[in-house]
Formats: sequence, C-alpha cells, structure tokens
Amino acid sequence: MSMRVAVVGSGPSGMYAADALLDHGVSVDVIDQLPVPFGLVRYGVAPDHESIRSVRDTLDQIWDRPGIRFLGNVTVGKDVSVEELRAGYHAVVLTYGASADRRLGIDGEDLSGSVAATDLVAWYTGHPDYRGPDFDALLPSVRRVAVVGVGNVAVDVVRVLSKSVSELAQTDMPDHVLSTLARAPIEHVHLLGRRGPVQASFTTKELRELGELEEAEIRVDPADLNLDPVSASEIAENKVATRNLKVMQEWCERPARPDAQRTIEVAFFRRPTTIHGVDHVTGLDVERTHLDLEGQLTGTGQVEELPVDLVVRSVGYRGTAMPGVPFDPDRNVIPNRDGRVMEGDHAIHGLYVAGWIKRGPTGIIGTNKKCAVGTVASLMADIEEGILTPQEEVAGIDEVLRARGVRSIGSSGWRSVDAQERARGENQGRPRVTIHERDELMAIGAG
Ligand code: NAP
Repeated sequence: MSMRVAVVGSGPSGMYAADALLDHGVSVDVIDQLPVPFGLVRYGVAPDHESIRSVRDTLDQIWDRPGIRFLGNVTVGKDVSVEELRAGYHAVVLTYGASADRRLGIDGEDLSGSVAATDLVAWYTGHPDYRGPDFDALLPSVRRVAVVGVGNVAVDVVRVLSKSVSELAQTDMPDHVLSTLARAPIEHVHLLGRRGPVQASFTTKELRELGELEEAEIRVDPADLNLDPVSASEIAENKVATRNLKVMQEWCERPARPDAQRTIEVAFFRRPTTIHGVDHVTGLDVERTHLDLEGQLTGTGQVEELPVDLVVRSVGYRGTAMPGVPFDPDRNVIPNRDGRVMEGDHAIHGLYVAGWIKRGPTGIIGTNKKCAVGTVASLMADIEEGILTPQEEVAGIDEVLRARGVRSIGSSGWRSVDAQERARGENQGRPRVTIHERDELMAIGAG
C-alpha cells in the first residue's frame, strides 16, 4: 500500500510540503477551507506585486504531478477532524498558517476606522470569507491614514493606499476594490515605527517602491535618521538596515513635488498610545520614544495627536489553535521538534507541522520551502523507521465528506476558476480579475 498523507492548507508551505512528499513517491491530498488554493500567495501578497504573485504559476504546476489531489472547500476542525484525518492517512501535515491579527492594546482600538492590516489585505485581495470592516463604505471618506508598524505588510498597505488609479488598474484586484480605491480621497499616509529605522523589519526593495509612486511624494524626518549609539552599533552588522537607511537618506534630499496628489510620511520613534473619536476615528496620539543604552524602547512622555480618519494596525499576523492539536499560546505556534508535533516531551504519532504555524509569521515565501522540506525529512525518517501506519480502517475522506454533505472542489475546479479570472482580466487589459464571492467560486469550481 502506498503511503498517503493529508496536508492541511494549500499556501506555499503546504504546496512545498506536498511537492517534497511526491518526490518520495507519497500520495498527497491537499485540503483547504477555501475553494481555491495557494493561501497567502493569493490572499496575502499585494495585488500589485505581480512578480511575487507569479509564484502561483510555479505552485500550480504541482497539481499536474501524479499522486496529488486538491480538496478545496473542506474545513479541517469543522467538516472533518484532525483525529479523523490521522486515522485515515499515514500522516497529517498541518500548514494552515497564521491568519489572525495582533492588537495594539490601546484605547479606541475598536472604533470604526481602526482596522487590522490583515482585514485590509483580505479585502483588497478578494478573500471569499472576508467579514471585516466595510471598506467600500469607509474608504470614500478617508483623507488621512496612519499605518502602525514598519514591516513589509505595512509597506504593502501604504503603497496600495497611495497608488494612482492607473497603477492599480494593472493589478488583479476584484472590480469593487478597484472602484473603491479609485474613489478614496486619500491625501496623507503616515507610516509609523515605534523604534528606529535600523530596527524596522521592512526590506529594501519594498521600501524603495514607496519612493517610486506616480502620484505620491515621500517624506522622512532627517532627525529620525541620526543614529543613537545602540542603532549605530546594530547597523554595522545589518546589511538590510544599511541599505534601507541609504534609501531614506536619499529621500530627504529630494526636492518637493508640487504635482503630488498625496504624501507618504515615514516617521520613527513614535508609539501609538490612544485612538480618538466618538463613533469614528478622528485622531491618533503618538508618543515620542527612544532606545536606552540597552536598546530598550522608552517613552519620552511627549505626545502629539495626528489628525487621521483611518488607523491601520500592521503589527504582525498571529497563529490560532486547531481543535485537538497542542498549541503554544505564548508564541502562537504548534509546539514541534523538527516539524513533529509535540505533546510535552512526546511526538504525536503521524502529526507534523510546517510554515507559519510551525515557526511564526516571518520570512519570505521561499523560507517556507526550506521549512516544509525539513518537516517532510522528519516524516520520511519516521516512515523509514516503520512507525507510520494508519491507526485503523476507516472510511476514506471522500466518503466522510459525502456523508456530511460537504462538496469539495478539486484542482480541475480551480483550473476553471483560473481560466475564468484570466478571461475577465483579458477583457479589461489586466492579468486577471480576482473572483471574490465564495458562491461564484463554488459554482465555477463545481461546474
Ligand atoms: P513584521 O515584519 O513582524 O512587522 C511587524 C511590525 O509591527 C514591526 O515593525 C513591529 O515593531 C511592529 N509592532 C509590533 N507590535 C507593535 C506595537 N504594539 N506597536 C507598534 N508597532 C508594533 O510583520 P509583517 O509586516 O506582518 O510581515 C510578516 C512577514 O511577511 C514578514 O516576514 C514579512 O517580511 C513577510 N512579508 C513579505 C513581503 C514581501 O516580501 N514583499 C510582503 C508582506 C509580508 P517592533 O520590531 O518594534 O516589534
């Protein structure tokens, strides 16, 4: 009997894990709660980053390999349990990522107009299960925005909110997103780091793009770029920070752009303390900070209010627990040793983990390949040892899903969606138009 493995999640780590398993002659079912595959490649990577999004085409080729199936529209933990999967397959690899947001923990965070970047990203990429703020209603009255956090997601958000209609029209955004962003009268976007430029986690290519937008002028306070002793010693070891600093120093020397429609203002050493507003955001208080001699973030007590009507907190993604699987609530990951899920000191038989839910929400897409291959190496070593066998004879997943009335979508269904999206794009001179309604995806996928 050939080995059969269930991979839960079809984002990059799930697809790379599946690919590595196929290399070893293992059959794989890739299960995803969405009717379409590729996770954050589709619903995380910014729509205007077409070259990064084209990773999708590489991942797509994996469906052509013998021995793999896609089971879309199947929610593990609801339609089928991890326990049932463990019983029906030789092994289960959890790669469901980290899709929740982290909070700031300050007053006013729940006001209308205070939103998580994870929501904004899910909305502008057309996530079919998007249930967050109504950006179509919100954005047409937003003039001033504060984006909190200086990682690559924050940079994506600032860029998408600052691009011209013609720049956005080249993307695969859903039509309603494009039309809402075209109507948003955004004039000013603050990008706020609580520590200094050397500690920022964005990367240089992404940062540089903020200074290359058609209609937006970029500003940074030169005083923020004078390095304190801790930053000066850190930068000597940090090539990315050195390059980032150079980019921002060049921005400081640029002449003003009277033609600019909007301004992006990058500011460091600003920590948000309160979001103001009665029933909607009207301002954000930020406290000036500095790093003490140990590099600890310290408040100065000096607070300024930024008049803004949208606050986007972009302070990282957060993994969530899967029913029946151990979870580390401090690190928001599944505890594991080399990808083997651990219960205390014991590895759970046949249960593995890869990607963000294994190591936290960090790294570029390629980082997940190494991570997934590492997990598959552990799994293959356990097969060699002869310790992986299905625990009992149970109904296969297809029978279980049929009995529960769950209609799964296969890779041919995804290909139909793909063809339809590309065709709609072609009509508009765009690479594709993302279909965002679950019912429509299901109808095309099942048809
Ligand atoms: P991130 O890189 O971890 O950045 C989070 C930011 O939030 C940091 O600047 C952090 O500052 C700040 N922060 C955290 N708590 C805060 C608080 N309470 N108040 C103020 N600021 C706070 O996370 P991310 O931007 O969500 O990105 C996740 C991963 O995806 C990263 O590995 C990223 O590189 C990757 N990604 C890559 C691309 C790309 O390659 N184009 C695009 C998007 C995402 P501190 O450092 O001070 O904690």
